[in-house]
Amino acid sequence: MNKTLRKAVIAGNWKMNKTPDETKALIEEMKPLVKDADCDVVLCVPYVDLYAALEAAAGSNIKIGAENCHWAKSGAFTGEVSAEMLAAVGVPYVIIGHSERRQYFGETDVTVHDRVRAALDAGLTVILCVGETLTQRKQNITMEVIATQTKIALAGVSAEELKNIIIAYEPVWAIGTGETATAEQADEVNGGIRALIAELYSQADADAFVVQYGGSMNAKNAAELLAKEHVDGGLIGGASLKAPDFATIVAAASK
Ligand code: PEP
Repeated sequence: MNKTLRKAVIAGNWKMNKTPDETKALIEEMKPLVKDADCDVVLCVPYVDLYAALEAAAGSNIKIGAENCHWAKSGAFTGEVSAEMLAAVGVPYVIIGHSERRQYFGETDVTVHDRVRAALDAGLTVILCVGETLTQRKQNITMEVIATQTKIALAGVSAEELKNIIIAYEPVWAIGTGETATAEQADEVNGGIRALIAELYSQADADAFVVQYGGSMNAKNAAELLAKEHVDGGLIGGASLKAPDFATIVAAASK
């Protein structure tokens, strides 16, 4: 298996941070720092910041994403935003199934599946988050949990559509905690996800498939994580809010 078959993707997840003005300022600061990246660079921002982010990133190598989308095209879903709406404003990426959505907002594997379906139908590229809790890791059921989340999310997704999906392995115990999976733990699970993709699709599809790691990845630990065979980039929370730190991670993925 050859890592050069895949282009790394470094994606920031700003969560519920930054106003539109702050968004513009942070992207302007990041642009010169990441302009020579030899990886894809994505920033996923709050809905209200999307216009500002798209405007600030225009003409640069930074692509913009949303942090969620609804499964319906439109309708009586107060407070929600559809994949069609995101596509209509020119947003190419969307995070789906983040553990904070699963933990605090009642997301289930089935609603994650429905959102993935809607995003693909709208022509978006999906960053699909999967990951185990600390209890599940201690129970030695990490791969079972991740296989279940992945299989349900990808049910009915064709090999052609798979090209518009990235999986981010995000151990729940490592998100926003400062606790990182070791490079070996990340590589083991990411490799397991790749093996599952080979089983569900084909070895060629699996070899070309991008599997990120996310969970307290930062300027200090990124190079070690990204050097691993199966770690094709990262989904970065806290460190994506600081331009120099995010740029260091982008540089590490560009080697
Ligand atoms: C995330 O929000 O997806 C994430 C990985 O956060 P952090 O990097 O802050 O752990």
